[in-house]
Amino acid sequence: MNFCSRCVLPDTFPGISFDEKGVCNYCRNNPAPDKETRKLYLDRFNELVEESRGKGPFDVIMAYSGGKDSTYTMLMLKQRYNLSILAVTFDNGFISEQAKRNIDRMTTEVGAARLILAPPFELMKRVFRLSATKDIYSIKALDRASSICTSCIGIIKSIVLKAALNMKIPLVAFGWSPGQAPITSAIMRTNPRLQVITHKTIRDPLIKNVGDEIRPYFLTDDDLTVHKSFWPTNIHPLAFTEYNEEEIYKTIKGLGWVKPEDTDPNSTNCLLNALANYIHRKRFGFHPYAWEIAGIVRMGYMERDEGMKKVTKEEDMKMVKYAADLLGITL
Ligand SMILES: [Zn+2]
Repeated sequence: MNFCSRCVLPDTFPGISFDEKGVCNYCRNNPAPDKETRKLYLDRFNELVEESRGKGPFDVIMAYSGGKDSTYTMLMLKQRYNLSILAVTFDNGFISEQAKRNIDRMTTEVGAARLILAPPFELMKRVFRLSATKDIYSIKALDRASSICTSCIGIIKSIVLKAALNMKIPLVAFGWSPGQAPITSAIMRTNPRLQVITHKTIRDPLIKNVGDEIRPYFLTDDDLTVHKSFWPTNIHPLAFTEYNEEEIYKTIKGLGWVKPEDTDPNSTNCLLNALANYIHRKRFGFHPYAWEIAGIVRMGYMERDEGMKKVTKEEDMKMVKYAADLLGITL
């Protein structure tokens, strides 16, 4: 397998091509945001925070996995901006016990309200079994995450948006790393038309295959099409602040966050990740974190060698089997 000489994307990645120096088209077309651009977003963010403060029962609702990036984001929203936070955790049945302790401890430490939504495990197992075994999403929808993660993240985004709409919370925060989502989407008002499309891509195949029991976790067509004067603004501040993994770990560990020992190296909260990655690599021939890690490397936040190690490392088969057994999947 050949890899881009600048980032870590392999020749198996959809739509990739290389120039004579071995640099991929994604590197050429996605220059890292410079300092001025980041400053521009930071200024806009500061304004938005002041406009939003006190406008809802909470200033911000956030998707809180208990992992390192969302923990750091929550901390920043509190310590730098003193926002009142509702942290929503979606318990997909595979959250590591240590991650659960981190969720309790960090929300308490930060002074955020904590809401944990845990659907029946049998229902989640059906969702993940389906995602793992059937091609319910197009390859285009899967170039940045595995099918299992796509289902889970789709549900989380919907739940958080639904709660924000119902409670009229002006800001919806995510802890996306700078590689997961571009700076251009770091501050963006919810676009109902775009939501209709993502619901068609994720909600509809899940309802079709899993049944109506999964419906309550998504927005309805009415929610999406009826004119609403209120739409919250999505934010992911890690896109325009300094992103340094070492610094993130140091800061959150200083507050009592403990790195789970039982998760895949690419996740700091979920026990399903190893299986999700394993299946994705087998099916498509590239690591589902390749896009994210390539972005972080491109922006200079991670050495290429370290990124290469992450995208070429084989999964721990004990973790893969653990999740496969729980889902009743034979590998
Ligand atoms: Zn590249």
